[in-house]
Amino acid sequence: MYDAGRMSRIPFSGIRKVFEEVHRREAQGQNIINLGIGRPDFDTPANIKEATKKALDEGHVHYASNYGIDRLRSAIAEKFQRDNGIEFDPDGEIMVTVGANEAVFLTMMAFIDPGDEVLIPDPCWPHYSPSVDLAGGVPVALPVYESNGFNPVKEDILAHCSENTKLIVVNSPQNPTGAVYSQETLEEIAGLAIEKDWLVLADEIYEHLIYGGEKHYSIAGFPGMRPRTITVNGFSKSYAMTGWRLGYVGVDRSLMSALVRAHQYSTNCVSTFSQYGATEALTGPQTALHNMVQEFSRRRDLVIARLASMKHISFSEPKGAFYVMVNVSGTNKETERVADELLDAGVAVVPGTKMGKYGGDFIRLSYANSYENLEVAMTRMKSYFESI
Ligand code: PMP
Repeated sequence: MYDAGRMSRIPFSGIRKVFEEVHRREAQGQNIINLGIGRPDFDTPANIKEATKKALDEGHVHYASNYGIDRLRSAIAEKFQRDNGIEFDPDGEIMVTVGANEAVFLTMMAFIDPGDEVLIPDPCWPHYSPSVDLAGGVPVALPVYESNGFNPVKEDILAHCSENTKLIVVNSPQNPTGAVYSQETLEEIAGLAIEKDWLVLADEIYEHLIYGGEKHYSIAGFPGMRPRTITVNGFSKSYAMTGWRLGYVGVDRSLMSALVRAHQYSTNCVSTFSQYGATEALTGPQTALHNMVQEFSRRRDLVIARLASMKHISFSEPKGAFYVMVNVSGTNKETERVADELLDAGVAVVPGTKMGKYGGDFIRLSYANSYENLEVAMTRMKSYFESI
């Protein structure tokens, strides 16, 4: 084996495994509705594509600045000011990255030393932990519970931190629980971060996908938090651009040097012409985004209404993103088995064990699928749970 030792700590993505199994079964002719998927099922809005094609035709095909093209950085700075009330200088406090994924990875590379601990509210997006591992750090799962909408609580944070804690992840709206952290929760986290001198990785990729009058708060805007918060966002979810691989990070100038150096020696810069499309996404009409959020909200209402009538399960109403964590412990079956049996019944979901250490009671389902498909999937799920 030539693998580096560190790779022994890196699992193959559990969600990918679900997809491979879905493809295998579909190839054999089984009809499956895929609620395992974590991407908007909409097309990228036409104005964004047009701006990108124009940039290509105009010859924007060479390396860009490591930080990103000027006009995109200005558009991101305006967005931070408008939506989040945070001021960032486009020159030295904003960097465009290859998706939010790269921004998360760079954060760990830039700030985590071997032995440093990173607190990750769990169930969680399964990418944080391996990126901490790759940096040589120690991921520490911080349990969050259905009973309070999966908001982390101070006592649990205190019980799971140590003198080696360097950073805490704040992902709100959250994948996979759909949690939107309350202002009080964020104030508590901010208070602890300041008291204990922690950094905060604020992953706000789902910021616009929020329902029922909920409000999104950016922790970087809380008093004392700017110098210690790495705010990550991107285009994948808000503008249905997962395949474009475009994200960004906004930080206090003091944090940028380490981030940009990690970026220089990994990807250097993001595809130049795509950045023109991203600029259009932020500065052009926001109609497609609003329509998409409305449609997600309609689907969410359908899914939670139908789930509420099913046997053996419970769930905390998701307030954001496009996922529901459904507690299946009432079936007295392992989550993996429930997911397998649901697949036999024609619905693909992700077993909670793939979504962190504390996901074992749950399955994650995504409503990034058409209303019609969701109706069929809910009917299949209802008869499955009734058959137990
Ligand atoms: N953060 C979270 C919480 C996510 O769920 C995802 C995508 N599933 C990302 C970041 C990555 O987004 P991107 O496509 O911008 O890399």
